[in-house]
Amino acid sequence: MALDEKREKSASFTPMMIEEDAALRNGSRGLSGQWADAVGVRPRTTERHITVHKRLVLGFAISILALLVVTMIAVLLSVRFEECSTAAAADSPARASGNGSLPGAARLNHDAGEPPGRQEEAPGEEEEWQRRRQPPPWTQLRLPRHLRPLHYNLMLSAFMENFTFCGEVNVQIECLNASRYIVLHAHRVHIEAVQVAEDKLSGAVRVSSFFLYPQNQVFVVVLNRSLEAQRSYNLKIIYSALIENELLGFFRSSYVLHGERRFLGVTQFSPTHARKAFPCFDEPIYKATFKISIKHQATYLSLSNMPVETSVFEEDGWVTDHFSQTPLMSTYYLAWAVCNFTYRETTTKNGVVVRLYARPDAIRRGSGDYALNITRRLIEFYEDYFKVPYSLPKLDLLAVPKHPYAAMENWGLSVFVEQRILLDPSISSISYLLDVTMVIVHELCHQWFGDLVTPVWWEDVWLKEGFAHYFEFVGTDYLYPGWNMEKQRFLTDVLHEVMLLDGLASSHPVSQEVQRATDIDRVFDWIAYKKGAALIRMLANFMGHSVFQMGLQDYLTIHKYGNAARNDLWNTLSEALKKVGKFVNIQEVMDQWTLQMGYPVITIMRNETADNIVVISQEHFIYDIDAKTRDPDLGNNSYLWQIPLTIAVGNTSHISSEAIIWVSNKSEHHRIAALDETSWLLGNINQTGYFRVNYDIRNWRLLIDQLMRNHEVISVSNRAGLIDDAFNLARAGYLPQNIPLEIIRYLSEEKDFLPWHAASRALYPLDKLLDRTENYNIFNEYILKQVAAMYLKLGWPTNNLNRSLVQAAYQHEELRREVIMLACSFGNKHCHQQAATLISDWISSNRNRIPLNVRDVVYCTGVSLMDEDVWEFIWMKFHSTTAVSEKKILLEALTCSDDRNLLNRLLNLSLNSEVVLDQDAIDVIIHVARNPHGRDLAWKFFREKWKILNARYGEALFMNSKLISGVTEFLNTEEELNEYDQALQD
Ligand SMILES: [Zn+2]
Repeated sequence: MALDEKREKSASFTPMMIEEDAALRNGSRGLSGQWADAVGVRPRTTERHITVHKRLVLGFAISILALLVVTMIAVLLSVRFEECSTAAAADSPARASGNGSLPGAARLNHDAGEPPGRQEEAPGEEEEWQRRRQPPPWTQLRLPRHLRPLHYNLMLSAFMENFTFCGEVNVQIECLNASRYIVLHAHRVHIEAVQVAEDKLSGAVRVSSFFLYPQNQVFVVVLNRSLEAQRSYNLKIIYSALIENELLGFFRSSYVLHGERRFLGVTQFSPTHARKAFPCFDEPIYKATFKISIKHQATYLSLSNMPVETSVFEEDGWVTDHFSQTPLMSTYYLAWAVCNFTYRETTTKNGVVVRLYARPDAIRRGSGDYALNITRRLIEFYEDYFKVPYSLPKLDLLAVPKHPYAAMENWGLSVFVEQRILLDPSISSISYLLDVTMVIVHELCHQWFGDLVTPVWWEDVWLKEGFAHYFEFVGTDYLYPGWNMEKQRFLTDVLHEVMLLDGLASSHPVSQEVQRATDIDRVFDWIAYKKGAALIRMLANFMGHSVFQMGLQDYLTIHKYGNAARNDLWNTLSEALKKVGKFVNIQEVMDQWTLQMGYPVITIMRNETADNIVVISQEHFIYDIDAKTRDPDLGNNSYLWQIPLTIAVGNTSHISSEAIIWVSNKSEHHRIAALDETSWLLGNINQTGYFRVNYDIRNWRLLIDQLMRNHEVISVSNRAGLIDDAFNLARAGYLPQNIPLEIIRYLSEEKDFLPWHAASRALYPLDKLLDRTENYNIFNEYILKQVAAMYLKLGWPTNNLNRSLVQAAYQHEELRREVIMLACSFGNKHCHQQAATLISDWISSNRNRIPLNVRDVVYCTGVSLMDEDVWEFIWMKFHSTTAVSEKKILLEALTCSDDRNLLNRLLNLSLNSEVVLDQDAIDVIIHVARNPHGRDLAWKFFREKWKILNARYGEALFMNSKLISGVTEFLNTEEELNEYDQALQD
């Protein structure tokens, strides 16, 4: 799953928000809520007793009669169970359920008479467990382990005209320990009937009662007798539910084609939402095979993980698609869709058919062609890298207008939000192309890491997300070999970014214990993704890339179609090292990095008397040093890591090859060869390690001198690393503030993008911090001076990028863009004039000649400096453009205004989802909050509209938390904090 990542594009964007059919949405949730509430248990037919002294003949006659009745019931039942898939089309699925008079099949009664909110447990069941002094199995947070699913047969009918669906699921289950209970997940579905039978035999196991237990989102079937161990059974459930107007489970969204609104239904099951679409064992460890059939109107098409095997057309305009059976897989990456998209396709050299499905107008324009093309190449790349072929006959990429995440890696049917997959080459910037590319590389990596081999449980979600995030850089390097993504861009976009978060006292370990379903969304955070990726990169570097790759090949081969925990990975990688004669206990090393939060700062101090002896010490790096005195857990020195510290010695023209020192104690002495008075030391070569390095001041001065004299002796990644370490060490009080500012003095000679990028990322927060202080002007002048020379040297891009040049020009164009952005943000007059000229030319000629790669900077600068007419012009363009990339930057530009009335107008308009897409609305609010003129407006808006926002995003927690952290990023005062608490409680 790819989270919606925004690479920082410009310093001061403003945001906005949304309001739409919150009422409708509440309505629909209310309905399903009522369903859940009204589901009650119908008393089972009472046992009848027949007196023993009836005559034998009568007894015999009754037996025959009973047999006949049972046979008839069985026939009736089978007809009844056909109902969902065959008859339901004519008969809306929202129909009242049967009256429960069918014996044998248990039915839920949801008469209006049931009091809402009542517990649905079977009468007597709970007392029974209380007597045994044991908690009932359905009250456990995890499913009881006595059953496991082997195969699901799922037949669905989707009714797009009223957004409902019904289904019949047959689960073949194996009983591991005898029990009278079947407990599986189901949430917000309406169960109509349940039947249990011994597998392959006709003998039914009588259902005593069944009920939903909403607290744990489970469904419980109580049987009259125990299921026996080592036998398998068939569980049949008929149910119905809504195709919700929210972003989880089986949900709907829409788009406009030729002035007409069209709807589609699509699923998002990860991590715990498959249970909203069908009753299932919804934990990743329960892998099973799935056979899915979907019945829908013939005007739509349906898609699922596997290809369609057969389609059966009916005369009434309905069609049933039967999909091939899946390999063993978990529920969270199962998927289906019902839509009327069109597609383009390609085939890999191993015969995997790749299709991209999207709105017909986007397909016609060719907006999916870039994604389709790189997907084919990337499948070939991964097959070669992992030495494991792609597992399914096809892969569909589905571009949907609305989705809670950037994308989801469903096996064979990956779903992307349009802005992360559609690309119009004539109007996309490099950074947009990079975003699209990396999201696709990420989801494709999951086809192996996640889908083929699945983490055992969500605490190790980083095992799949960390890998997918790391491979975003490795895979992009395959597509664009000159870009050095893994060696360079990884540093600013992942390592520096996550060390900011993980240096807070409130951070958490990358492996997080989690049990409750409603907490599971929260483990998908930047610590799991970015720290996971940074740790994997450190591991790959200290193992050596080729051994690491061999280890991954073994890991995937051993665990394919199964589950694996972190220790399985560590063991396989230790074995791989052993094969090349190295003995490192990877588990011992990595447990310290994954089970402890935060990271160390290493300090290298020279011994004053003996120049070639250094003292290397480690401590837990934390921004708020006082937190260690307040919190004994943080302060008790128990945080230690085994650190693969690489180190090199340099002088004016030369740097030594690196040596590795494993640092595992609080403080250690080491002898460094060739270290003399004039040479400097550099730690963490190419910043492959997940830690910071500090030195004595003399060494910092030597490094600064070296940068000023000949910076190229130190690698690009280390130049960026020194800048980031220095600014952050100073921020946390480990280093005087003048050191980082002295380091960036050499930038006027820096021709590489990465050190500039590292510097600008450190400078923008400092700019905000110093804003309105007396020293601000000095700081501002100083930065402008550093930028001026390079700004003059590079100038502005003169024309649009030629796609064929992108690869070679990437470094140069990204550097030019970075410098222009700094110049315009810090108030370079020429930069402002140039932006205004370009905007004026666009307005007067109605031809947009603004170079693609700096459009966002120009739009934002124009809106913030020029009058209201420019804002109106951009607003108009936002409406008229159809290209998603352009739409996004136009919208962000609108948040750059200084005019509070305009910002307010934008905030209010953003709640209208006809105007601003749901996921974009969040960006609008966050960007308004980042604009100094809009901060309090966004905050006020957030407080006033909290209920609407919360109702709209509901369980899509990540979006909510992104919104909350975005808006509260700039809260400073106690009063604001209180208001914030109050808003969330209301
Ligand atoms: Zn992912």
